[in-house]
Amino acid sequence: MSTLLRQLPQVDALLATPGMAGLLSAYSRQEVADTLRSALQALRADLKAGHLKQLPDFESEAFARSLGDRIEAERQPNLRPAINATGIIVHTNLGRARLAPEALAAIQAVGADHSNLELDLDTGRRGSRHTHVERLICELTGAEAALVVNNCAAAVLLSLMATAQGRKVVASRGELIEIGGAFRLPDVIQQSGAILREVGATNKTRAKDYAEAIDPDTAVLLKSHTSNYQIVGFTHTPGRDELAALAHATGTILMEDLGSGVLVDLSPYGLRNEPVVSDVLASGVDIVMFSGDKLLGGPQCGIIAGRAELIRGLKTHPLSRAVRIDKLSLAALEATLRLYRAPHDPFCSVPVLRAISQPIADVRARAEKLAAALNGSGFEDVSSIPSEAFVGGGSLPQQHLKSYAVSIGIPPYTPDALAAALRKARPPVIGMIRNDRFLMDARTLTDGEVTAVVEAFRGLRSR
Ligand SMILES: *Cc1c(COP(=O)(O)O)cnc(C)c1O
Repeated sequence: MSTLLRQLPQVDALLATPGMAGLLSAYSRQEVADTLRSALQALRADLKAGHLKQLPDFESEAFARSLGDRIEAERQPNLRPAINATGIIVHTNLGRARLAPEALAAIQAVGADHSNLELDLDTGRRGSRHTHVERLICELTGAEAALVVNNCAAAVLLSLMATAQGRKVVASRGELIEIGGAFRLPDVIQQSGAILREVGATNKTRAKDYAEAIDPDTAVLLKSHTSNYQIVGFTHTPGRDELAALAHATGTILMEDLGSGVLVDLSPYGLRNEPVVSDVLASGVDIVMFSGDKLLGGPQCGIIAGRAELIRGLKTHPLSRAVRIDKLSLAALEATLRLYRAPHDPFCSVPVLRAISQPIADVRARAEKLAAALNGSGFEDVSSIPSEAFVGGGSLPQQHLKSYAVSIGIPPYTPDALAAALRKARPPVIGMIRNDRFLMDARTLTDGEVTAVVEAFRGLRSR
């Protein structure tokens, strides 16, 4: 081993060999040198671990080709498109909502050129970036005013900071949510400088519990949509109208963190329990916060909507500058919101809603098409089977959508090995493993992605 270790060449010496000339003409010297260095390091580690009994021929075409492959792989963007075959429509690890073509066009237009982001074209004076979407949000939610920030977590923090800093926030013990990524409601309340007053029990909280907790120091009654869990059985939560009446009688603010925030009723598609923003506001909630990239189907952002006087206070709070939305997201949000207005039908135009509302016959046809194409490519152990898709994104945890998936086995791959190999495809294909089978759900695929999936499987053979 030590002899082989000593035989490992120096990077500079290798660069000067004729075998490297082709690479040096195709790539920068820096790229070739860096890649050589990491290849030599890998060889050294393999030798030390005893995995390697002989060194490659450093002058060979095969060695140069392997370096070229490494450089090409390194040149791929780190953040890149992937194929979501998980059946989870809003998958946080896979970038949540796909954007509509209209939203992408808006990003392209506003990103490539200057814009009237903060210029009032009527007066020539400084304008506000919020004006571009505020009217649309109000129209779609019935709110008096609205503000958009970087994400829903920021929306919650800003709303609490601007209304309850140094004062009390009353919240039910059944709604002190954690949504992952270090967002725990009690911690966010503490971070905002407000004091949490927990009321009720995990399963039951009554309006009376809120009423008894309110004192002159209370600023906010906070409701949160328990979007990633459900408390079932012997439970009670007061109605929003009851809490609104209480808040208004006591001079406090009723605030609700809705999380997903749907603008349209999803119950015709079998998804109950997801409150529609306009209904929530109509029931008397003063101010709501929700994400732009969950069920709304737009870019990452957090929307705050509600009473004008409260929104005004939020807009001028110093934190609102730190968490403001960027112009590209704003452009995508405006374009997405316009898809909710006639003549558009959001269930056709907004990809998240299209995936949710897609008839099962279409999903099944796509699964069968994929299964047939894989079969036609020589894969034998392939079938299309009924499955369950989920909305995801921390929403609607107990409810699923009927779906179809392609189940495939490729000996000698284990399901885990197959999943790992497909993650390395270009683009990566992300499926799921159920009952020791590798599955790809067709509800989260588009017809256009079927070909790319088949290509990824063909690529497995050439390895
Ligand atoms: C997802 C979610 C959030 C956080 O939203 P982001 O846009 O990811 O910051 C906050 N509250 C609830 C209830 C959520 O579901």
